[in-house]
Amino acid sequence: MEQFQSPLTDRFGRSIEYLRLSVTDRCDMKCTYCLPKSFKGYQEPKDWLTFDEIERVVGAFARLGTSRVRLTGGEPLLRRNLPQLAARISALPGIRDLSLSTNGTQLPKHAEALRAAGVTRLNISLDSLTRECVTQITGRDSIDDVMAGLAAAEAAGFAPIKLNMVVMPGVNEHEVESMAEFCIDRGFILRLIETMPMGSTGLASSYAPLGPILERLRARFDLIPEIKEMGGGPARYWRTTDGRGQIGLITPISQHFCATCNRVRLSVDGTLYLCLGQEEKVELRPLLRAGISDAELEQTIRDGIELKPEKHEFLTAPTKIIRFMSQTGG
Ligand code: SAM
Repeated sequence: MEQFQSPLTDRFGRSIEYLRLSVTDRCDMKCTYCLPKSFKGYQEPKDWLTFDEIERVVGAFARLGTSRVRLTGGEPLLRRNLPQLAARISALPGIRDLSLSTNGTQLPKHAEALRAAGVTRLNISLDSLTRECVTQITGRDSIDDVMAGLAAAEAAGFAPIKLNMVVMPGVNEHEVESMAEFCIDRGFILRLIETMPMGSTGLASSYAPLGPILERLRARFDLIPEIKEMGGGPARYWRTTDGRGQIGLITPISQHFCATCNRVRLSVDGTLYLCLGQEEKVELRPLLRAGISDAELEQTIRDGIELKPEKHEFLTAPTKIIRFMSQTGG
């Protein structure tokens, strides 16, 4: 029997069906591992893709078999009228799943509109439950705003909500058990993430290998591996035997998952990045503004997928990626 091959299959046989779309490189936080406090190199708004341009690119991806889109940034909710863009993307033929990564601070204003616009899943970043630690990591006293955002997401009916925690030794590593308790109580899915050496900030933040942390969690909770697929992402999930809790581990450093990578990223200035940890890219904005046809745009994307590298080199060449996570669209 002939096996189905997505139109976007790379040199290594990986089908690309997931687009992460950065809608701004601005953020109202300056997390220590992400963006330096003094950062000045933001894109000019005239260089940001407009909603029309974004819709065109996502439409081309959808025609090439991409069914899932995640809005990210920077802080995506700082992009004005984001729910309008979300509605346009979720209405595109072929898009079956539209999700959003956010730090949560703007959710009280936008959670309901996002749901009405067709956003089905939310990931919210929170690295600690301690005011001092959140302030130290994010650069401002933001824990109340994030908690209000979590409540707004629940009230708007988002379920399940995933909570992302970047785990750092000596900073918040000791909090993983209390974070797990918090998530189990609130019905959130906890995802623990190893810090990646993206830019000088990521490089300067040490990472906590999640293997020993899983052992700690298994000593505290009755955990069994989850076998069903959970969103097609890189996390490996565990759940509590009583079914109340789920914990995902994202281990780009200690156990990378490049062989199953199904995604590419479009930054706010229209650069298509083929790998988070490599430089291969295609600049789409000049082509869009020069009047490229839909057929040419699709061919450019197909050609770009050919450039997708086999794997990142975070462990062997950690200084390689100088762009910060918030510039690529995390
Ligand atoms: N502002 C949104 C948010 O907070 O989710 C979206 C963008 S943010 C860059 C996306 C995710 O990337 C967040 O969960 C953040 O903690 C994570 N992140 C940022 N820099 C990272 C790094 N160097 N290593 C691992 N994760 C990182």
